[in-house]
Amino acid sequence: MKLPLVFYGDPGLRQQAEPVTVFDDKLLALSRDMVETMHAEAGIGLAGPQIGVPRRIFVMEIPPEMDEDETGARLNPDLNGPLVVVNPELLELSKNKEEMEEGCLSIPDIRGKVRRPVSVTLRFQDVEGRQREMRLQDLAARCAQHETDHLDGILFVDLLSQVKRVAIKGKLRKLKEQTLQS
Ligand SMILES: [Zn+2]
Repeated sequence: MKLPLVFYGDPGLRQQAEPVTVFDDKLLALSRDMVETMHAEAGIGLAGPQIGVPRRIFVMEIPPEMDEDETGARLNPDLNGPLVVVNPELLELSKNKEEMEEGCLSIPDIRGKVRRPVSVTLRFQDVEGRQREMRLQDLAARCAQHETDHLDGILFVDLLSQVKRVAIKGKLRKLKEQTLQS
């Protein structure tokens, strides 16, 4: 089932999400709905707070063609299909950082460059509660950071340059008004 999205201006996007402690059929069903919603919205990641669920869970899926180096080799060969990430921790963030344009399903029509570490280790639990760890590169690493930020009430627009933040101020204010009216 596709779930309705929560948009910029909704206070739920600014909350600290709570850890997941129960790994049951309800969590499995939620993760499936989140994947379906991510696909329907053509996103590469979706976090709990974006569908009004204040829990530490996100889903991500990087299309293979967006996960290749210059030679066409996969950057993250372990990533196949959608990944369900519960209670994530980001470790060993690389000193090497890169700036890249980001967007967010909760902040339509706004994009901007964010500087982030190029690689990270993602430690998390899968939907059955098993501990897992993955080293991620490039877009996958960026996506995992963007989604983990959602669980801490942080949005990519907070991380833009001062100049860019001033430039989009009006758009954000309009979006917030729309959200609060709906
Ligand atoms: Zn987002």
